[in-house]
Amino acid sequence: MKKFDAVVIGGGPAGTVTAHSLARQNFRVLLIDPTNFQKKSSRKIGESLPAAARPLLRHLELLDVVENGSHSASYGNASAWGQDQLQTQDFILDPNGLGWHLNRTQFETDLRTRAENSGVEIWRTSLLDFENILTPKNSKELRSSRWRLKTDCGMARTPWLIDATGRGAVVARKIGASRTKEDSAMTLFQWFGTSAADTDSRTLVESRPEGWWYTSRLPDHSRVLSLQTDPSLVLELLHSPGLWQKRLKETRHIGATLHRAEPLTELRCVDASSAHLSTFAGDGWLAVGDAALSLDPISSQGLFNAIYTGHKAAQTITNALELAENSELFVRDFQDRLSEIHQAYLRNRRFLYLSEQRWPEEKFWQERHREALLAPEHAAGLRLAR
Ligand SMILES: Cc1cc2nc3c(=O)[nH]c(=O)nc-3n(C[C@H](O)[C@H](O)[C@H](O)COP(=O)(O)OP(=O)(O)OC[C@H]3O[C@@H](n4cnc5c(N)ncnc54)[C@H](O)[C@@H]3O)c2cc1C
Repeated sequence: MKKFDAVVIGGGPAGTVTAHSLARQNFRVLLIDPTNFQKKSSRKIGESLPAAARPLLRHLELLDVVENGSHSASYGNASAWGQDQLQTQDFILDPNGLGWHLNRTQFETDLRTRAENSGVEIWRTSLLDFENILTPKNSKELRSSRWRLKTDCGMARTPWLIDATGRGAVVARKIGASRTKEDSAMTLFQWFGTSAADTDSRTLVESRPEGWWYTSRLPDHSRVLSLQTDPSLVLELLHSPGLWQKRLKETRHIGATLHRAEPLTELRCVDASSAHLSTFAGDGWLAVGDAALSLDPISSQGLFNAIYTGHKAAQTITNALELAENSELFVRDFQDRLSEIHQAYLRNRRFLYLSEQRWPEEKFWQERHREALLAPEHAAGLRLAR
């Protein structure tokens, strides 16, 4: 059985940033994730990274991962939200500079390579099982190896476990945290090939009765097309290409952008609901990224949240390993920080959905307005993030 200072389960952006940041402090870190990036099916949706990530990536010495020529600049957003006409938001005015449209697979591959180069041991497999062997009787001597983990690649023990398993939150839920959904939404998505004439690098967003659509041109000259909608519509749209095409044609801006573009993939669907854990951390464990807080894609903050919470988790564990007697305090600070992020996120989300009032009879909008109107405050002055 191998011993580590920390074991990270899940090697998406949140997990790799956590592991990389801890390894840079010379801790022994294990990262467990089965993803094989060579497989086409491993391609994930989620490619816009806002410029606000720039100072954080620089601080983590990871800025080159997004500035290595594999990704393209995002010049802004154009959105028809609350009205038919497009409104534009130009990133040229952003003090952090332009955002990015990522080649997501390359981004994750490079993050993982960086983690490995900084000393992280990687087991390319799934976590099969784990247990906490700490009891009040033996707590002192076993504290440093309280978690015992089982995988196909071997067994490991560690005092710190990080749940970076994305929306599944498999570790935190097994420990006892519950995951609450704030709404229910699904995304239907597909990648298209584009022509050389398609040079619009903005993210285009359009709300419609059935939900909201977006498309972005990606660095490999493909385009992602995505519809966020009510789960009750998904099966029908997924199995009826005619209906999907009809809905796309009914859009005013999105359909025109994809005119003559050829689908490169089948239509796929993923969960896009907002959700949070009942607690983000506990004795000897922390949750990061989507495992802790799953954000609505309209926020375009999922990757930033993954990177930030990964960084914050690494800071927390570094402090706890160096000053073990204060570890409770550091864990509480992590918990409080994520609660603040969650509250700010909810305020933004309510404001955004309340600013679209054209289809009060439609299920997708009714659900979002109901949730928003129950909230004590409707934050003013917040803007569409995507
Ligand atoms: C439709 C849609 C569009 C989006 N668009 C954007 C966008 O434009 N910009 C943005 O910032 N965000 C976007 N997001 C959100 C963003 O993709 C996520 O927030 C981000 O992927 C979270 O990273 P993560 O590392 O927490 O989780 P994930 O990326 O989900 O990674 C989790 C990892 O855990 C691994 N794992 C799971 N279970 C186990 C196990 N038992 N053992 C070992 N490993 C395991 C998985 O293999 C995976 O690699 C979007 C999301 C959706 C649904």
